[in-house]
Amino acid sequence: MIAEVIVDIATSETDRIFDYLCDDNVIVGSRVRAPFGGKILPGFVMRLKESSFFPMERLKRVLPCEDELPALNSECLALAEALANRYRVPKALTLRLFLPTEMRTGKVRERTRNYAALLLPIEEMQFSKTAKNQRGVAEYLQAHGKTDCALLNASFPGGVAALEKKGYVTITKEQVLRNPYQEVDSVCPTRTLTEDQARAVEIINTDNRRVQLLHGVTGSGKTEIYLTLIAQSLKEGKSAIFLVPEISLTPQMLSQLRARFGKNAAILHSGLSAGERFDEWWRLRTGEAKIAIGARSAVFAPLENIGVIILDEEHDSSYSSESAPRYNTFDVADLRAKYNGCKLVLGSATPSVETYKQAKEGAFSLIRLEKRINKRPLPEVIIADMRREVRRGNNSAFSAALKEELDKCLSADKQAILFLNRRGYSQTVICKECGYVAKCEACDVSLTYHKEENCLKCHYCGLKYNMLSACPDCGGRKLTYAGTGTQRIVSELQKLYPAARILRMDNDTTSGKEGHYKILKTFAEKQADILVGTQMIAKGHDFPAVTLVGILDADMSLHFSDYRSGERTFQLLTQVAGRSGRAEEKGKVVLQTFDPENEVLGFAASYDYAGFYKNEISLREAMAFPPFSKIVRVLISGEDDKKTLEALRGVFFGLKELYDKNEEKFLFFDKMRSPIKRIQNKYRYQVLMRLNDSSLLPQIYEICAAERTRDVLISVEENPANLS
Ligand code: ADP
Ligand code: ZN
Repeated sequence: MIAEVIVDIATSETDRIFDYLCDDNVIVGSRVRAPFGGKILPGFVMRLKESSFFPMERLKRVLPCEDELPALNSECLALAEALANRYRVPKALTLRLFLPTEMRTGKVRERTRNYAALLLPIEEMQFSKTAKNQRGVAEYLQAHGKTDCALLNASFPGGVAALEKKGYVTITKEQVLRNPYQEVDSVCPTRTLTEDQARAVEIINTDNRRVQLLHGVTGSGKTEIYLTLIAQSLKEGKSAIFLVPEISLTPQMLSQLRARFGKNAAILHSGLSAGERFDEWWRLRTGEAKIAIGARSAVFAPLENIGVIILDEEHDSSYSSESAPRYNTFDVADLRAKYNGCKLVLGSATPSVETYKQAKEGAFSLIRLEKRINKRPLPEVIIADMRREVRRGNNSAFSAALKEELDKCLSADKQAILFLNRRGYSQTVICKECGYVAKCEACDVSLTYHKEENCLKCHYCGLKYNMLSACPDCGGRKLTYAGTGTQRIVSELQKLYPAARILRMDNDTTSGKEGHYKILKTFAEKQADILVGTQMIAKGHDFPAVTLVGILDADMSLHFSDYRSGERTFQLLTQVAGRSGRAEEKGKVVLQTFDPENEVLGFAASYDYAGFYKNEISLREAMAFPPFSKIVRVLISGEDDKKTLEALRGVFFGLKELYDKNEEKFLFFDKMRSPIKRIQNKYRYQVLMRLNDSSLLPQIYEICAAERTRDVLISVEENPANLS
């Protein structure tokens, strides 16, 4: 037999399919070891055939790997090819997306897992008060008996290891018991769906459009709908993919999924080691587990016969990959849904403008959930005008209204979340007295401060402005471009409330494997009164005791130099506000702003998505921003400035030719240095384009792929999430 093999090195030279001799028992999709340039490299069998154009005696022979199943099923192979074509990247690169690192680098380990079991009854154990995870593990083991350590570690990080040290549990290595025909766990608790939820499920099952948008306010019970759809798939003998932003894999979510689906669920989260990831992947590949749950990479789960794909918080920017190939999770999910003939369910309280437009125009089905479960009211929003606070001499980060609400909240023994929106702010110039923001005269987006040149620049048209010394509107000299850090907020807060227990959650405090997991768990267990954080605390969490949310600087991201900043702000504010008052108590939100008349804030404060959308879509149309155009950035970066510039010239030359031939399709075309000129020792240049439609995309990818070299990275980004 002849095998067409892709050798697993991602450089353009080797992105070809090579013919090899192979044994008759080799299967398409399986791993092989291929002699290549004097080395033995891992490869994958793409196709089998009887004969080759090359003379037989010149063909080398591949060695098989002893895997029980081919690593890639036929859908994955097809998808890898489709993605390689779509993004014009080597197939070796797209194939990697479907495989856990262990599969590519090492020998696949024997499939054993660690199981923990109790050595003592729980009553004879001693725990310190703070050892919640140890207690959690012990209680779980008492109730369920011997359990897979990976499962325990996901819910109770560190617990098993600590108990083993104390001699309370024993860990044994066991061959994984495979039970591909395992029935759906019948004892799991299921809630009765509300009328709205049942209607949504009904529509998703009967509407014949592939993509279903579930637009439900925060707390409307979308999760329960997802779980119902997944359970349905399992009942029909099918599998399911459930995608969430990584941060949404909160303790509550994990335990809910585990309680509902037990071993049928394979959870791919960043807390897993490479080995554990591999094990979860393998459980999916063999069919032992039928549900893949995880962040964007879980869209590549090795499942067959998929019954439903769910993309929760579909607007979340984490669904765009930031490294090559820069795939969009929706695109991949949509391809898989098409291949499997199943539904793709998008869920959000604040759908992206692009998605909502599709739904309004009928390309996607649109299902609305307008009420919270049990008709709990959405929290009341108080807008605090920070300009007035400054005029009254209040220079602290907290308005009088927020202080009053904090007093009430803490004395009622409830919890509060304070949200600080820091991202992107430090680069924008704002007047502290009147709220003026420096904007580009041509583009109506805010300008970005460039420190090195001490000037302001528009990232859309490249216009340069002198740095301001005073506010052009009010003449005030309190111009600022440095955000207030969470750390400073915490110390101010501690002074105001010495007895309060305050937790901080931002990039600095969440390093390490389970950083944010631990903080959220501590807060959920009411071991703290106030949680101060950035973007990270906005999403998906369900803390019943939270009755107050303070948004310290609501307008910051409005000035983020990006056409999507209005949309992002609306999404963020809605999400953050949704954390308040989720249980019996009615919640409140204090929204602090220097720009209280701003339309976007108004729409967010009144939970008016429709109003927001109408306003936003007409702005986008007027400015010819996406979805009425396509922004394409080609980013060229490399450590050697000269070589990088050379590559830029090559790319620009090719694109310029395309531009000259198709000028009417371009709204904008230029090359420039990137706003951040050097990241991690790599020089960065870009060609920025705004196009009428997507028709030239394949050619753009092609031109860029042709310039790829060893030393310079060239990436094409469509409507990039940021332009830094
Ligand atoms: P969303 O994801 O739409 O923001 P959730 O799925 O978190 O909302 O649901 C909000 C709350 O309502 C959760 O505490 C959830 O447990 C509860 N809930 C959802 N569906 C039901 C139901 N059918 N009956 C009772 N409670 C429910
Ligand atoms: Zn401009």
